[in-house]
Order: sequence, then structure tokens, then C-alpha cells
Amino acid sequence: KTGWFARLKNGLSKSRINLIGIFSGGVVDDEFMEELEFQLISSDVGVETSAKIISQLKDQIKLKGLKTQDEVKTALRDVIEERLKICEKAPDLETHHPTVWMMCGVNGAGKTTSIGKLAKFFANERKTVLLAAGDTFRAAAREQLEIWGDRNQIEVIAQEKGDPASVAFDAITSGKRRGTDVVMVDTAGRLPTQTNLMNELSRIKRVQGKAMEGAPHEVILVLDGTNGQNALMQAKSFDDVAGLTGLIITKLDGTAKGGVLLALADMRKEPLPIYFIGVGEKIDDLQPFNARQFANALVG
Ligand code: GDP
Repeated sequence: KTGWFARLKNGLSKSRINLIGIFSGGVVDDEFMEELEFQLISSDVGVETSAKIISQLKDQIKLKGLKTQDEVKTALRDVIEERLKICEKAPDLETHHPTVWMMCGVNGAGKTTSIGKLAKFFANERKTVLLAAGDTFRAAAREQLEIWGDRNQIEVIAQEKGDPASVAFDAITSGKRRGTDVVMVDTAGRLPTQTNLMNELSRIKRVQGKAMEGAPHEVILVLDGTNGQNALMQAKSFDDVAGLTGLIITKLDGTAKGGVLLALADMRKEPLPIYFIGVGEKIDDLQPFNARQFANALVG
């Protein structure tokens, strides 16, 4: 079994090869900088953020008198690290009892898988975890969570034909009673274009505040990293409706180009933390986000 960093690096190799491919040891001229900008845009960094990165690099080239493409490559890695560093944050599981995480995203983003991985991660940190099966649309989603919970001795609060807000309310209430450390509330997958479902998210959120003041403490969007710039659009929509507090980006071991993390880091004035990245389908394939490692994997 290869290590997660190798899988991340391999997953991002599509952009990396593009980025590396242009660092040929030749001179740093306008043509080179244009090509670099083009490659950043092709790696899902986005037009605006790519322009900002290029401008930062040009400043560095002047300031430090960088001459070779190798030097620019190192500078690029540093700029990427610095831009992603603002998204590095360890989740706070100490302030609230329980800490309530509400999980949202489009279908197939990896929400259920990530909830499973997270529950294991928190359990490894000796935290007690309760799951709320708030995807009441699909019976299969509830069953998937329950099977998973059984296997890992983590309790799942569910209701047959329940209302998502009431499942969340129940779970938080019992979490409070039992002194559970973390309550994770699953929600049904929804698309930004499904206005009613999007509005339902804010209702599910509001009802949690009735079970416990200040809940949910985290509103997490799970994003499929292979969705590129579309992930950015999703993040904006979910943030508008539900007020996001953090992100989990999945499938970075796959065909993701990875640059979208730079676009996401640049999306809001107050940057959204990227708490974890998904680097595989197995239970342990979740890693706390680390800007330096990611920059290394991306630039090579
Ligand atoms: P949901 O609809 O958002 O709950 O999505 P699921 O959790 O059911 O995941 C959809 C698919 O993506 C499943 O086949 C998962 O195994 C897969 N998946 C989730 N996270 C990752 C990841 O980090 N890497 C890879 N390669 N696959 C993932």
C-alpha cells in the first residue's frame, strides 16, 4: 500500500507535470511567465487567482533578482504555500460540549464517506462521536451510515421517514445529555440550483440552534476536488445560504488538478478553513490539511 502523500502527489500529477513541464531550466522571460499563468489556469486555479500569483511572482523576481526557472519554481512553491497557509486550521473540539458539525454538499461529493472517516479520526483522538442520519431523502443513505456506525461502534441517531431538522434536534439533545464530544449531522445531497433544498439547509441549521445555543458550531461543505472550478461555484452558493465555516476536499488522489484549493483560499475575505482532504476511499484516507505538503505535492 502506498502512503497517502504518494497518492496525493500521484493524484495531482496531471497539474504537476504541466507545471514541472514548463520549468525547463531556461530563461525567465515574458513568454515563460505567460505560459506559467496559462498552466495555472489549466490547473483549476482560476483566472483571477492565477493573475494574482503571477503578479506576486513578478514582484519576487524583481525583488530577489531571480534568474532561472528553477528559482521561479521554488518561489512559486512558496507563494502557493503562503496562499494556502491561511486555510490551515485544526478543528476546535474543546470549547463546546458537544461540538456540532453539520455536513453538506452535492450528491456524490463524498459526504457520507468523509463522515465515516472523520468519526474514526475523532475517535482516535479519544472523542466520543454521535452521528445524525439527516439524509432522510434516501433510505440508502441512512442505512449506509448505520452499517458504518455498527462496524465502528459509533451510534447513529435516525428516524424512519424522519424530518432532517428533527433528526438533528434529537441527536444534539441526546449528545448533550450523554456528554458526547462531537455530534455530526449528515444532510441530503443538494445542488445549488435546487432553491427549495438550499433553503431547507438554513432551516435545518436554525432548528439545531434550538436544541443547543450556538449549534451548529461548524457548517462544513464537502467538495469533490475533481470538480475543478465548479467546486468554487458550489462553495459560493452553499456559503450564501448556510454560512460555511469550513471545507473538506475529497478525491485528491484521483484525477483532481488541485489548483481549485488556491481558488477556494481566495474566495472570501475571511478565508474558509480547509480542515481535511480526502486521499482515497478507505477509512483512514483522510488527512488534516497541510499547506506545505500540498504545495510540495502540487509543484513537485
Ligand atoms: P455522498 O453522496 O456525498 O455521500 O458521497 P459518498 O460518500 O457516497 O461518496 C461517493 C463516492 O466517492 C464513493 O464511491 C466514495 O468511495 C468515493 N470517495 C469519497 N471520498 C473519496 C476520496 O477522498 N478519494 C476517492 N478516490 N474516492 C472517494
